[in-house]
Amino acid sequence: MASYSELANRPVLSQPVYEAGRPIEVVAREFGLDPSTVIKLASNENPLGPSPLGLAAARRALENAHLYPDGGCTFLREKLASRWSLKPSNFVVGNGSNEVMILLAQAFLRPGDEVVFGSQAFVVYKLATLLFGASPVEVPMPGFRHDLAAMRRAVTERTRILFLASPNNPTGGTDDPSAIVDLAGSLPDDVIFCLDEAYAEYLEATADLRPLMASGRKVVVTRTFSKAYGLAGLRVGYLVGSEEVCGLVNRVRQPFNVNLPALAAAEAALDDDAHVQRSRRANAEGVAQLSEGLRRLGMEFIPGSANFLAAKVRGAEDAFKALQRKGVIVRPLQGYGMAGWLRLTVGTPAQNERLLGELAAFR
Ligand SMILES: *Cc1c(COP(=O)(O)O)cnc(C)c1O
Repeated sequence: MASYSELANRPVLSQPVYEAGRPIEVVAREFGLDPSTVIKLASNENPLGPSPLGLAAARRALENAHLYPDGGCTFLREKLASRWSLKPSNFVVGNGSNEVMILLAQAFLRPGDEVVFGSQAFVVYKLATLLFGASPVEVPMPGFRHDLAAMRRAVTERTRILFLASPNNPTGGTDDPSAIVDLAGSLPDDVIFCLDEAYAEYLEATADLRPLMASGRKVVVTRTFSKAYGLAGLRVGYLVGSEEVCGLVNRVRQPFNVNLPALAAAEAALDDDAHVQRSRRANAEGVAQLSEGLRRLGMEFIPGSANFLAAKVRGAEDAFKALQRKGVIVRPLQGYGMAGWLRLTVGTPAQNERLLGELAAFR
């Protein structure tokens, strides 16, 4: 009798499984804790919570939960178009930006293709690459920073996509916007440059790839409502690119990939500049608080402007477990080839203080 594995698509057999931040309720149950006392600083979520405008819109939308959502995400794409000074046809909305990256890979990758990204890049790039039988080309990141020149040199005639996140997750390092534009403009015509800007709202300046897009270069940008907008649980992200690339990615998208309350929330949250500003300010203060605290503890960390820091912690893997027992969830990074490091999401001032207090045991 044939096993399911014998019948499965080959790449599925060796596909790694994404390891997410551990949920509060699961940790609380495992360690016998009251969930209301557990803090999650593991998935770069917004400690200020969801955009209030987004939340109110999602609640209103639930009244119509018997109706299918607008599969074309008409209003959200119109709003995005006006924000970006582009056309609605320049956007594809997905169930998180994670989904649009998978859709991009599905539309363009086949066995034999190569995909270039950093050795400590966001793991979804590798998952998307392997899922469609393409080969990852992981470019070393000296000091856990992208080496853009080395990434350019890693491009061959087999390369189909180059992924770059700035800031990068999990390292937190940011690349200079003009260096990003230069890299994007230097790539051969048959390579798609995908710039992942999940943390754009926390930055002072981002790379503007619209001129390259307009001139027909193969560049796409991904953004998300999961971070500064505080809607991680609703799953909305989007891809920005030429009408042609969006049209192709759209063909592999499920008709109703973004659900009704999520779509309503994203539309409203996009206008919630106050929440984004508040989140940006609170984050800058939180980054300073954590950085100072880590310095005081004598712990090495990678400076950054995203809403998390990677820190070198003695016995990191044990610390990850011990912290959970104390009701503090963080993220171990050994899966990223960063054994000994933990990724710490910026929380509220009180949460940051508590985290630093617990970390003191692992100096
Ligand atoms: C969090 C994150 C995303 C966003 O994922 P969603 O699917 O939109 O929640 C994308 N890229 C990076 C680098 C991230 O850290």
